[in-house]
Amino acid sequence: MISVRDSFVQVLLDVPIGERFDYRATPEQIADLAPGDWVVVPWAQTRKVGLVVALTATTDLADDRVRGILAVLDDAPRLPADWFGFLGFVASYYHRPLGEVALPALPKLLRSPPGAKARGSVFSRLRRRALAPPGTGSDAHPPGRSPELSAAQRDALAQIIASPGFEVHLLHGVTGSGKTEVYLHWLAAVLARDACTQVLLMVPEIGLTPQLTGLLRARFADQTIAVLHSDLPDAERAAHWLAAVEGRARLIVGTRLAVLTPMPALAAIVVDEEHDGSYKQQEGVRYSARDMAVALASRRGIPVVLGSATPSLESWLAAQRGRYRLAPLADRVHAGAWPVLRRIDPKRKAMVHGLAPETRQAIELALSKGEQALVFMNRRGFAPVLTCEACGWLSACENCSTFRVLHRQAATGGPARYTLLCHHCGAQDRVPRACPTCGNIDLTPLGRGTQRLEDGLRELFPGARIARLDRDVARHRGAAREVIDAAHRGEVDLLVGTQMLAKGHDFRNLSCVVVVDADSGLYSGDFRAPERLFAVLMQVAGRAGRAGAASEVVVQTRFPLHPLFDALARYDFASFANAQLAERRASALPPFVFQALLRVEATKLETALDFLGRARAAGEPLCAVGAPSGGGPDAPGAPGAPTAPVTLFDPVPMPMARLAGKERAQLLLESASRKALHAFLDAWLPRIAELKGAVRWQIEVDPIEI
Ligand code: ADP
Ligand code: ZN
Ligand code: ZN
Repeated sequence: MISVRDSFVQVLLDVPIGERFDYRATPEQIADLAPGDWVVVPWAQTRKVGLVVALTATTDLADDRVRGILAVLDDAPRLPADWFGFLGFVASYYHRPLGEVALPALPKLLRSPPGAKARGSVFSRLRRRALAPPGTGSDAHPPGRSPELSAAQRDALAQIIASPGFEVHLLHGVTGSGKTEVYLHWLAAVLARDACTQVLLMVPEIGLTPQLTGLLRARFADQTIAVLHSDLPDAERAAHWLAAVEGRARLIVGTRLAVLTPMPALAAIVVDEEHDGSYKQQEGVRYSARDMAVALASRRGIPVVLGSATPSLESWLAAQRGRYRLAPLADRVHAGAWPVLRRIDPKRKAMVHGLAPETRQAIELALSKGEQALVFMNRRGFAPVLTCEACGWLSACENCSTFRVLHRQAATGGPARYTLLCHHCGAQDRVPRACPTCGNIDLTPLGRGTQRLEDGLRELFPGARIARLDRDVARHRGAAREVIDAAHRGEVDLLVGTQMLAKGHDFRNLSCVVVVDADSGLYSGDFRAPERLFAVLMQVAGRAGRAGAASEVVVQTRFPLHPLFDALARYDFASFANAQLAERRASALPPFVFQALLRVEATKLETALDFLGRARAAGEPLCAVGAPSGGGPDAPGAPGAPTAPVTLFDPVPMPMARLAGKERAQLLLESASRKALHAFLDAWLPRIAELKGAVRWQIEVDPIEI
């Protein structure tokens, strides 16, 4: 309540220190202010936009230290208390200050203080802006007639619709089984309930799936759709965000950041491809948008649908334990036969450009029938490393413990230019004319990336129309779309590229999929590597044979007898997942335990390790506690055991210790009880903050790469 004596406001700012900052407000300012309002405040020598979270009569600051609000953005939407409540949960779950979660959740355009002239008016300008439909032209979809649902789809939909409140449904079905139709029917039903409900559809990536946005516009022609993703121009993104916040947009489609948008009338959430790694934010506050979507649904008391052909093992376990409800869609809608999986062992084969004779024949066969083929390789660039065979020099990155990748720049006329690019720190150099150590002028590329693979394919299949898609191609605005559209129009015979090709495209004429090298995920140090490999292989395989014609998937592997491929050959996710879960349980790995990672970076590795050693020592006395009192925030997933000890492992250098000139080390902690882990972090982190050391440290909860 605003009392006459209130004259200070507590403001959230996007700064790494502290949580709330006190500012003085004049009586005129305070009269109209409430929590959720936007203000411009002085910060050191600059100005910042902040969000008001409380009005108070007093402040702990000395009178001459407290500064005044510069402006109230009275045209801005007042953000609702339950949004702050949810973001407070996110902040406490990831152990970060609320301001560091809340401010970055606002569009960049609205986060920067308006210029003196434009003050306040940016919101009204945005409100007048027509929400440009996502993409135009080629994704125009015929007016939306939804197909009649199959029996399996109807069962799934009935289960979801029957949820009275919060419930998590795991919609499990292979690509093409009709999950999208189930989402759309459900969302349409929720929107039809009254005139203001909002629904959120989360997708891993929007730019690459024009089919989805086209479909949505056709099906929800009478709705304003807000599209939220980070590739939108600033003003457009801000306009869409504002429409979602003010309830003008009732269907919100977006990538991971969409979950942090205030949606006042939210009544349903769908997370498509829930297993996808891009739901995990990998910088700043490292949140999982999938987990936070579940947490949001729980707070709002609404149902959430997680959909996937290859659910995360976390979600799969939750379904087995009955905390999530499984809704299976067993078959493809257009009952095409599954592609036949062939395993080709490259050992002792006459490999040409990385392809075995059988692989080359399979591509040839598809092309000769006028069908399309897709060659998948998850490594972009020309070659992963450049070497001097005379002295053994390798193109190491001087800032990182990894190699620079040889890339060919797109040449317009003239000879192609090559560069050495570090995929981790981004440092880039011209290729040296001669070996830096011995002067030899014959430098040799080792191995193969998508660019070199493309060259090889052009040589092997000179008559074929070939197009490549990877991050390098996609860097040019619209280029990725062009490749996809051309493939749909049948203007491409042979597609070559990375995982980007695996996502959500439905190529009707594709009958042959080649996986050039499947082995890196089989025996990796990362226990999640097989899970990711299986998911991506299912996804690329799912591109083939959607029209119902015979098709095949050729996997080149030196381990053809690996059980992962047996399950894949049967397209049997359940048996793969259950076997993985059995292994994880036996080795006490997630999802049977909960983890957090303390990462430290310093100029010297010893400094980082020493800091971690002291952090560990400071934590040891707290481990024994075990039983949390009141405990940390509730889990988005399994709570695990109510209480269990926390284990602190030894500090170790990170798998890639050196990055961008910094040495990095980490300390893993885990517990069978999520509550105990959070309670421990609550007690431990303040002690770490007191430790001295020339390091930067960060805690990551539920890390997915260790
Ligand atoms: P998923 O999301 O599981 O990959 P989709 O919902 O996109 O599957 O369905 C795959 C294809 O089948 C789409 O072209 C879709 O229009 C079509 N489809 C889905 N459900 C039906 C149905 N009940 N009847 C006819 N066609 C359908
Ligand atoms: Zn040399
Ligand atoms: Zn580097």
